[in-house]
Amino acid sequence: MANDYLAHLQVAGERALACLRRHAVPPTAINYAVWFTHHAGQNPGLSRAIRELEAKGERIDEVRHLELAERFIARAAQLERIQDLVGRADSALEVIASEIGGFRANAAAYGATLEGAASRLEGDGRIDAVTVLVSELKAATLAMRERADALERELGRRDAELAAVRADLVKAEEAISTDPLTGIGNRRLFDRALRKLAAEAAKRGSPLALLMVDIDHFKRFNDTYGHPVGDLVLKLVAAKLAERALPPRIAARYGGEEFALLLPGSDLAEAVELAEGIRAEVADREVVLKSDGRKLGTVTLSIGVAALGPGEPADRFLARADAALYRAKEKGRNRVERATD
Ligand code: GH3
Ligand code: MG
Ligand code: MG
Repeated sequence: MANDYLAHLQVAGERALACLRRHAVPPTAINYAVWFTHHAGQNPGLSRAIRELEAKGERIDEVRHLELAERFIARAAQLERIQDLVGRADSALEVIASEIGGFRANAAAYGATLEGAASRLEGDGRIDAVTVLVSELKAATLAMRERADALERELGRRDAELAAVRADLVKAEEAISTDPLTGIGNRRLFDRALRKLAAEAAKRGSPLALLMVDIDHFKRFNDTYGHPVGDLVLKLVAAKLAERALPPRIAARYGGEEFALLLPGSDLAEAVELAEGIRAEVADREVVLKSDGRKLGTVTLSIGVAALGPGEPADRFLARADAALYRAKEKGRNRVERATD
């Protein structure tokens, strides 16, 4: 029923446009209102006048349109209201067309405006044409909204595709930055994090500390228990470091049996304390194989600690931590050494 009515209005609108072309008048609100009202069958007086003029085979020019409108549709003041309404409808439609993002709210508001206008105008016989126009514009809004809906769905699909690509990139980035044996960051991640965190610390004037950690006599361990057991120990040490390196801290396997910890916000004293805690925790516990309960003795760590100096380049910072690690080895292993300036 409602659909039939809408279809009827649509036909009236199309016919009105054809008539405007036939009589070679511009499709202004007033000219359009004349033909639309006629074809919508809303105004018998107007339709009779139009049929009489057409029977004479005369072109109905713009002046005639104005006369018809004034006589049959409304007085001048009411015509102004039509123009105003159509003008507002036009700008609302323009907004809908240009702002897909905000279109839903616009269309809804516009629909509500039309709804309100329609109910206010209802029952006023003189302005039936306005009511009809409003209905026509409502139909146009609906079509607009459907088109915008389709566009929005398309945008949604594109958005989802992009999100999937972004997620894939994140996964790929994670994969090439992760050490497959231990699951913590690898050298690539460390190098990038070192540069980034050093730059940030320099910019903000905030502290940054670095621990370089190396397993003592690991070759011996491998030789005694075999490479697969050595791998288990690497995982164990990595897990211990990861426990102490919650974000924004970074734990990475620097290479072989060597690890690194980046500690943004930590000064040298705090970093040394952390290093000592890690060293003691690992040294104090005997490693036991979960699979067969075999006791593997203790594993010890040597750790070099450095704090980023003012204006210090990242590679020099790393070299100082490394030098401290080697001093820890020289001094007998299973110890923490702080870097010198
Ligand atoms: P130091 O106390 O001076 O550090 O002695 P170290 O034996 O730990 O040092 P060295 O550099 O002589 O040997 C490192 C060993 O680490 C040699 C290598 O077999 C072992 N290693 C390196 N990567 C892996 C790995 O992925 N798995 C296992 N199981 N062992 C590894
Ligand atoms: Mg070693
Ligand atoms: Mg080593």
